[in-house]
Amino acid sequence: MRKLAACLLIVSMNSYATEPSHPDALRGYTAEHSAAEVQWEQKFRATADSERIRETMRRLSARPHHVGSAYDKDNAEWLLAQLKSYGLDAKIEQFEALFPTPRSRKLELLGPNKFTAKLDEPALPMDPTSGQKDEQLPTYNAYSKDGDVNAPLVYVNYGAPADYEQLDAMGVSVKGAIVIARYGETWRGIKPKLAAEHGAVGCIIYSDPKDDGYARGLPYPEGPMRPADGVQRGSVMDMPIYPGDPQTPGVGAVQGVKLIPLDQVQTITKVPVLPISYADVKPFLQALEGQTVPESWRGDLPLTYRTGPSKSIAHLAVSFNWDRKPLYDVVATIPGAVFPNQWVIRGNHHDAWVNGAEDPISGASPELEEARGLGELLKQGWKPQRTIIYCFWDGEEPALLGSTEWAEFHAEDLKQHAVAYFNSDGNSRGFFHAGGSHSLENFINSVARDIEDPETKMSVGKRARLAARLRGTPEARAEAKTRSDARIGALGSGSDYTVFIDHLGIPSANLGYGGEDEGGGQYHSIYDDFYWYTHFQDTDFLYERALAQTAGTMMMRMADADVIPYQFTGQADTIHTYVTEVKKLADSMRTQIKDRNADLADGVYKAAADPKKSSVPPPVEPVPPYFNFAPLDQASDDLTIAAADYEKAFSAHGTSGNGAVNDTLLPIEHALTDPQGLPNRPWFEHMVYAPGFYTGYGVKTLPAVREALEQKQWSAVDTQIARTAAAIEREVEKLRAATRALNGP
Ligand SMILES: [Zn+2]
Repeated sequence: MRKLAACLLIVSMNSYATEPSHPDALRGYTAEHSAAEVQWEQKFRATADSERIRETMRRLSARPHHVGSAYDKDNAEWLLAQLKSYGLDAKIEQFEALFPTPRSRKLELLGPNKFTAKLDEPALPMDPTSGQKDEQLPTYNAYSKDGDVNAPLVYVNYGAPADYEQLDAMGVSVKGAIVIARYGETWRGIKPKLAAEHGAVGCIIYSDPKDDGYARGLPYPEGPMRPADGVQRGSVMDMPIYPGDPQTPGVGAVQGVKLIPLDQVQTITKVPVLPISYADVKPFLQALEGQTVPESWRGDLPLTYRTGPSKSIAHLAVSFNWDRKPLYDVVATIPGAVFPNQWVIRGNHHDAWVNGAEDPISGASPELEEARGLGELLKQGWKPQRTIIYCFWDGEEPALLGSTEWAEFHAEDLKQHAVAYFNSDGNSRGFFHAGGSHSLENFINSVARDIEDPETKMSVGKRARLAARLRGTPEARAEAKTRSDARIGALGSGSDYTVFIDHLGIPSANLGYGGEDEGGGQYHSIYDDFYWYTHFQDTDFLYERALAQTAGTMMMRMADADVIPYQFTGQADTIHTYVTEVKKLADSMRTQIKDRNADLADGVYKAAADPKKSSVPPPVEPVPPYFNFAPLDQASDDLTIAAADYEKAFSAHGTSGNGAVNDTLLPIEHALTDPQGLPNRPWFEHMVYAPGFYTGYGVKTLPAVREALEQKQWSAVDTQIARTAAAIEREVEKLRAATRALNGP
């Protein structure tokens, strides 16, 4: 999965003109141990080999390998054999999950301009794997319900909440219609969800050339962008409720587990959905009548974009095989020599929608190279202090199936033993980016300082933070000059870290390179393959090697530290900015609603509207009350002080090698979870980070508070403030205990 590129770019960093590598010891290491660690890490980075990564990609992407396919299993067995050949203790852990595949798909325009959508991506002569028709999944959206509907069409732009407000203002209803939404802006599963909530009976999602086609670059095979018949497959399951096997929420789906009956599953769409190409969508867009859409709604097809409805009726019919399929998670373990019960975990998925050279193999191949490098080090006598676990997940594309089932199955152990989870999911050429738990921010920065950018030869951390000074908001640019660590972005969803951070409260990060040679037009199509990647992405595999070096170094440095190198002052600073944001949000919503009510009373909307066009003024709304943010302000302040105290104690005693402190640190991020979970979605337990209920991938920080505000559930806001503050206070308590442990009696 993943995409929505560049969302987590490291935004900033400190003002050092030259890099201070590590003046003293690595954080959490005694001086002596630090020197040895630096040498082991250098040895490790020297093992990473671009040519091997290229060959791994060639092998893993040689045939389509979606869940349940022959080559998916073949890849899992091959990965297992490789890991064993490196001398690692590896196994396949098998689960199963509901994975629908198409039985029949039909989309037609009825009436005088009858048209039948092709629903097919053609093979290209120069691209050898694009013709593997027998093994390719057809173009479809997984977890669309079965359905057969005839209805007029309405265009809804990206199908986001604001788009429906715009339609309301224009007096256009989608009730009883099939909506046409374009890909982009929101996660795709949000489009049918909102369409159904507004009364639509079907949903077509298409790729507009403005978003990932000819408007962005040359189309494939001349360039990397989406060709006329290219289609983005993908899941439309309602994952903001819960990801993983729809029939076993919260429970690892091993054989014989009790299943929720199919007709009671909440996360399958309420209307039938089908993705199509821009070649296929054209006649449907041309059939639309009604008003011309606002400028920001227009794509780049040579036609006038109108809202509809259409006079012509469209016929959408899809049906699926609702089968349960096996999942093969490949897991290799290197036991820790000193703290075997403290686990550092790495993961990337191995399944793809089709051949998936970029998504996910450009992440999985470096990951395998890391495992090989660690195997080499073991032979030379290196012994990690903590247990290292390398995972290659199956079933990420449909619904984060393999990682979710594995982590749900091992949940109790993971809550006690997991120190950190490092994820990747695809990779290309360019700048280092990372997002994740802010207790890992300083650690991620420390590793990024030690990885050489293969083209510019400066450190990837330095390059990212210098480049950040040319982009972003004025505040972000200013911060890039002054803040000692680059602030990392928060994680929403869209890859396998979701269960670790959002469900279990394990410090997690997502890593990768990108921003140059950006593709996007191959995403989830038959063209995301070895030919495409080796012509248009990281063609020298230099940033593939850099990813292996980066993630592998993180694994080693986290596993070898005497004291877990979490850091909390940066986390406290970031949480403080979130608190400021939600307070501002409440104020601005109050002002907005007051102003609009006044405009309505004064007849502003009536005066401004074109009397010959249909338009509907917004309703008068109750003005939100003032909320009690005091508990959140208090918790944020308490965290700031506790983090500073911890940092002081750490500076004084953190490198004394006092391993007992680790026991007080391990449950620390878990304190930010609430077992009751978020309103209406108890699976999501983290009170600081969650994917948005109406954004899907996009993160909502302090989600219980922010979403109560955004969804105008005024009476819930104070309760959610109190719950969120209580979670932060729980972390404060743990942090104080860790500080006491550092300072000693
Ligand atoms: Zn992926």
